[in-house]
Amino acid sequence: MKTYDVVIIGAGAAGLMCALTAGYRGLRVRVVDHASKAGKKILMSGGGRCNFTNLATTPAHFFSRNPHFSISALKRYTPHHFVELVERHGVEYVEKAPGQLFCAQSAKEIVSLLLTECEWAGVEVSLSTTVGRVERLGEGMQLEIDGRTVAAGAVVVATGGLSVPTLGASGFGYDLARQFGLAVTETRAALVPFTVTSQWKASLASLSGLSCPVVASCGDGAYREPLLFTHRGLSGPAMLQASSHWLPGMPVAIDWLPSTPVAETLADLRRRVPRRRLGSWLGELLPKRLSQALIEWQGWQDRPLAELSNADIDAVASGLGAWQFKPAGTEGWRTAEVTMGGVDTAAVSSKTFAVDALPQLYFIGEVLDVTGQLGGFNFQWAWSSGVACGQAI
Ligand SMILES: Cc1cc2nc3c(=O)[nH]c(=O)nc-3n(C[C@H](O)[C@H](O)[C@H](O)COP(=O)(O)OP(=O)(O)OC[C@H]3O[C@@H](n4cnc5c(N)ncnc54)[C@H](O)[C@@H]3O)c2cc1C
Repeated sequence: MKTYDVVIIGAGAAGLMCALTAGYRGLRVRVVDHASKAGKKILMSGGGRCNFTNLATTPAHFFSRNPHFSISALKRYTPHHFVELVERHGVEYVEKAPGQLFCAQSAKEIVSLLLTECEWAGVEVSLSTTVGRVERLGEGMQLEIDGRTVAAGAVVVATGGLSVPTLGASGFGYDLARQFGLAVTETRAALVPFTVTSQWKASLASLSGLSCPVVASCGDGAYREPLLFTHRGLSGPAMLQASSHWLPGMPVAIDWLPSTPVAETLADLRRRVPRRRLGSWLGELLPKRLSQALIEWQGWQDRPLAELSNADIDAVASGLGAWQFKPAGTEGWRTAEVTMGGVDTAAVSSKTFAVDALPQLYFIGEVLDVTGQLGGFNFQWAWSSGVACGQAI
């Protein structure tokens, strides 16, 4: 029977990072993945440029039943550590938005960086490989890999979340957690576009492709980011972020003019340029098609400002500042960037990522109930949890 110090299930961001860290410590490490390529999500991420970290990362950028769980790993392996690694490999990067670092050329460079490091660290990477039963074997573990029994001192589960099944996502990690008595918190698609009712779809069709900066609020989350109209519904960073707070039936509020004090501005203009029309004012602040649509949806008439009463001005201000819509749903796992929920961290060490009751079994990365906001936080979690575990095994 072949024996390893550690077998890591999942050759994604967290699994590869854990593997190279453990490999450099002299451990015999094998990474197995059922996909034909390592790091498929990395390759697809950030529009092919991979937003590999966010310099502003703090535990507050993550959702989890235990908001303290991410503190230790994030503190020990920071965005600057990953940037150092990226620079050592000569990968050029750009800061597209404040703190958000993307590859200047291609996400392929991040995958090849990780695979190169794994090779240098003596890690064996097995792709297109099926993992069957995973069992405890005394102080260690035993697994079936492509039908053969393999013994390992430790098993690390780095199988990620459920989003984008075509990129290799599976519920394997959750099933394994349940098999060993761990709880799995409810999972749902997050960082995902909203769909709208068929009635709204018709009204939004003419706006498809338009983007504008808004503040989107849902539940206890509010994000100042661009919104994008698509032929299916509402997307863009503002909507993706809001989706992480959304549950069926909840409304999403949009402030279309977050930088404009609407009531004061309209009252002032009514006095100074009374013949100016509402539509012409709004058309200067928002894309024309959108300003016309908003006037139509709200039933406002495109009147001269002189004809607006104070109550009309208040209605326009609240209609633009807190426009509410009820999504029909989300686009679901097919396009979601992440999974909200996952393996309950209550039974896992935040220092080593070992299961408290079975210390030869570890869970890292997105399979855990730790989910980042949009902007490079999810990869930083994969790197930080991978390193912390790789150092502890
Ligand atoms: C389209 C898209 C774009 C994204 N863009 C960004 C971005 O720019 N920045 C950011 O921070 N985050 C981004 N994310 C999120 C990010 O990709 C994930 O949070 C991150 O990859 C999680 O790392 P992980 O190693 O835990 O899981 P993954 O990277 O998903 O790796 C899990 C691995 O496990 C393997 N696996 C699953 N089941 C099995 C099984 N049964 N047997 C063997 N292997 C298995 C999978 O094939 C996969 O290789 C994006 C996600 C998507 C879908």
